[in-house]
Amino acid sequence: MNRQTLYYNGAWQDAHSTEYEEVINPTTEEVIGEVVTADQEDVNKAVASAKAAFDSWNTLEPKKRAEYVENILKGITARKDELVDVMIKELGTSRQFAESTQVTVSEKEMKATLEEIETFSFEDEVDNATVIKEGYGVVACITPWNYPLNQIQRKITPALLAGNTVVVKPAELTPMTAILLAEIVDEAGLPDGVFNLITGTGSETGDYLTSHEDVSAISFTGSTDVGKSLYEKAKTTVKQIVLELGGKSPMIYLDGGDLELAVKNSANTLLHNQGQTCSALSRLFVPKDELERTKEVIKDYYKDIKVGDPNEEDTMVGPIVSKDQMETVLNYIEKGKEEGAEILVGGNKMDRKGYFVEPTVFVNVTNDMTIAQEEIFGPVLVVLTYDSVEEAIELANDSIYGLSGGVVGPEDEAIKVARRLKTGNITINEGARTPKAPFGGYKQSGLGRENGLYGVEDYLEVKAIFK
Ligand code: ADP
Repeated sequence: MNRQTLYYNGAWQDAHSTEYEEVINPTTEEVIGEVVTADQEDVNKAVASAKAAFDSWNTLEPKKRAEYVENILKGITARKDELVDVMIKELGTSRQFAESTQVTVSEKEMKATLEEIETFSFEDEVDNATVIKEGYGVVACITPWNYPLNQIQRKITPALLAGNTVVVKPAELTPMTAILLAEIVDEAGLPDGVFNLITGTGSETGDYLTSHEDVSAISFTGSTDVGKSLYEKAKTTVKQIVLELGGKSPMIYLDGGDLELAVKNSANTLLHNQGQTCSALSRLFVPKDELERTKEVIKDYYKDIKVGDPNEEDTMVGPIVSKDQMETVLNYIEKGKEEGAEILVGGNKMDRKGYFVEPTVFVNVTNDMTIAQEEIFGPVLVVLTYDSVEEAIELANDSIYGLSGGVVGPEDEAIKVARRLKTGNITINEGARTPKAPFGGYKQSGLGRENGLYGVEDYLEVKAIFK
């Protein structure tokens, strides 16, 4: 797929830029496409298109906006197989995960937000005031590669429903899913300029887009370092900013709980999508006297995991998204060994074509080690031990991050522990997420929330009219 076009003003437009980026399949290491790196002139045109469309979209009846968003949802469902295929190719996510999660989650989350918005009031009466909630203007949506469809969905659904228009800049590693989504949006018949997509790098295209004076809000998902730099850009014209950043989330196993469940819940977040999930439960805490049993449960769980071609139905773990990212993960594994942690499972690059790293588990880890503090964004689990529940809570909270968490144990006690964790999301035992609940981080994991009405609120400007 070669794409020298960008999507704005309701159509695919020839790019001014002649620069392009290659897209590489991490399983085969082959170039599978190239997409244009939008330059400043391209960005200006896309932003102008979104700006011109804003007033009429913002004043459109909310119900009508919801109908358009519903058309996008229908398009996603209709083209699900294509979305799954393109994600397997450019991201290396397994077929089972692409089908069960990557696309399905988008459908569920969109449906939930559409349900919630039906009864949402964009106008309230407070004493003699009418309080109006409306869009900010143009939202720059900057997304990462790990969930190439859903990271975009989580921004455009609430932003559009709230009355904003959007310019999306997807990650350079996975632009093809985004291009397919733009085709779906095009077919959904939105008014021209409401949704715009430009491809390009973060340092050029993303940087210029987020600094643009006609951008009223920045919505970013990605690394904490880039998130921090966006504050600088937001301040120039006092832009609204929504950040969903990194994580190093704990899973605490409490005595009397189901240890197999704790291991499975934690391990699965590091196996599916190769652990490239910001909410992965990458630190497993167990009581000291349960360590030996935990090791046996882990070895038993990992022995049947199939790592390989993500296209095969029974593969759970595919390749890391890129050569660079694979090297980052391997460097962390080396660092763990150097700092004295012990490998229980895996620990090596796999001897085959593609960017494959063995699913890896470290024991003998202390919370001050690099592998216990930094986000690895790969299939690496670290196991830590504690003497008392108090200590487990303290260690779990001893992190710059606070995105997610899990507690497995007797329910009442687990809930007490959950209340004390400084993270935005916590799962107790088999508790499943509802897409109407907020997702987002404490501390350096972010600012604002995604999903349901919590997500919509971050994209609403508020005005009071006194009569
Ligand atoms: P990751 O390591 O997950 O790729 P990044 O934070 O580097 O996370 O990238 C997430 C998104 O942010 C990508 O779309 C990338 O192109 C974009 N990006 C990176 N640097 C910048 C920047 N300086 N300004 C704006 N966007 C950026």
